Amino acid sequence: MTAVIEQKIRVGFVTLGCDKNTVDNEYLAGLLKRDGMAVEVANEAAPPDVVVITTCGFLQAAKDQSKEEIRRWARVRKRAGTRLGVIGCLAQRSGEELLREIPEIDFLAGVGDFERVAKLVAGEGKSRFVTNTNGESWDLAQQSASAADETMTAQSDIDFDDRAFKKNAPRIVIPRTLPRQRMDRRPHGFLKISDGCNHTCTFCSIPLMKGVYSSVPRQVLLDETKRMLDDGVREINIVAQDITKYGLDLEKRMMLPELLNDLASLEGEFWLRLFYLYPSTVTKDLIAVMKAQPRIARYLDIPLQHLDEGVLRRMKRPHDRARTMDMLRMLRSELPGVTLRTTFIVGFPGESNDEFQTLLDAMDEIRFERLGVFTYSREEGTPAAQLPNQLPEKTKQRRKEKLMKRQAQISAEWAQAQIGTERTCLIEGRVPDSDWYVARSESEAADIDGVVRVRSARELHSGEFIRARISDADVYDLTAEII
Ligand code: SF4
Repeated sequence: MTAVIEQKIRVGFVTLGCDKNTVDNEYLAGLLKRDGMAVEVANEAAPPDVVVITTCGFLQAAKDQSKEEIRRWARVRKRAGTRLGVIGCLAQRSGEELLREIPEIDFLAGVGDFERVAKLVAGEGKSRFVTNTNGESWDLAQQSASAADETMTAQSDIDFDDRAFKKNAPRIVIPRTLPRQRMDRRPHGFLKISDGCNHTCTFCSIPLMKGVYSSVPRQVLLDETKRMLDDGVREINIVAQDITKYGLDLEKRMMLPELLNDLASLEGEFWLRLFYLYPSTVTKDLIAVMKAQPRIARYLDIPLQHLDEGVLRRMKRPHDRARTMDMLRMLRSELPGVTLRTTFIVGFPGESNDEFQTLLDAMDEIRFERLGVFTYSREEGTPAAQLPNQLPEKTKQRRKEKLMKRQAQISAEWAQAQIGTERTCLIEGRVPDSDWYVARSESEAADIDGVVRVRSARELHSGEFIRARISDADVYDLTAEII
């Protein structure tokens, strides 16, 4: 008698956007695997039974990329019968519009509510929903078009301080430890400690999609971290929209230092790396825990967006420049060797040459080791989109190039100064057919910074920590010999 092999439903994932989307997809993949499905990174050459596209709606470019990807899989659906699911930020924000534009979409879900999305993937339940402030889901299908449109339209010209907005905004709730299935086998993973944001930066559409600040319970984060460490992760990247506010919605106090202490006290050899610190809430307690816990990498990502007080005011961001510069100087003196990463937006409405010059001056003083520069993107539904004096794209590009050119010099000078120093490096992998390895030290975050190329006669393994001496450098990458 021949055994009947039950074919598992194959679910393919397309992850667009930020590291928070990576975590969300790992939750969903974990739930689907729990429910007996096979999960994989979607590959058009071997179409899965179901494809789940996690979209991004942050900038126009990201929205265009999301729609392009949905249309690409709509063609695969026609040819191979793959069910097409669309989730995440763009679906949360513009679900109705997407369904009108791409009727091939089989199911659509906003942000969060992963258990419910898992049912949709399995073909159960209402096929279209977005998430509301209680973390529950509204059935787009059931909800009368006008109400849905009302929600969608209401979001499009709202002032973030608007109580109504806060009343209707989504809230992503992770009530308990969810199974997580990592898609990427590299030695780093992401720990999303909260989602959503209560800040009101006038250029930013994230609160429209991710809603209000919602911390993940501490025990859930400890469980997730232990599981990642058991699964071979050796670098835990701590992410959110703003990690400094962790716990404020849970216990009315900022609990990031305590959380980091707990995480850094777990068994094993690993690093914690901190991203998305809000400039006005980088506290002495945070610096104290970084000094006390060697597992916390001497690396801080503090998106400043700008450093001219006039522009910061128009951005509705902390605009006390002197205080911000003092905080950055304090980090330099309290945490010797710390690597500072920041992000600037150039070409914000009304940005004058003088205002732009303040950025160049600050770069020369603080000398950020790592810098990302974005040109201002006029995003529908954000207050800044209504501001006068929108600048031409040419001006924005010119200013971005000027900043990146200056940063390349600063980065090259920093890299040269590393020659001869010794540092601990995390091995990512081997360069095929060579005794070279790709690695990163505390100064290089995965995918956004350079790497350390390490030569070693003895075989090294992904996830291994080694000591190396820097022997050479170029603009962003270092070369080293194992010691
Ligand atoms: S803090 Fe970040 S996510 Fe929050 S509104 Fe400002 S830019 Fe957007």
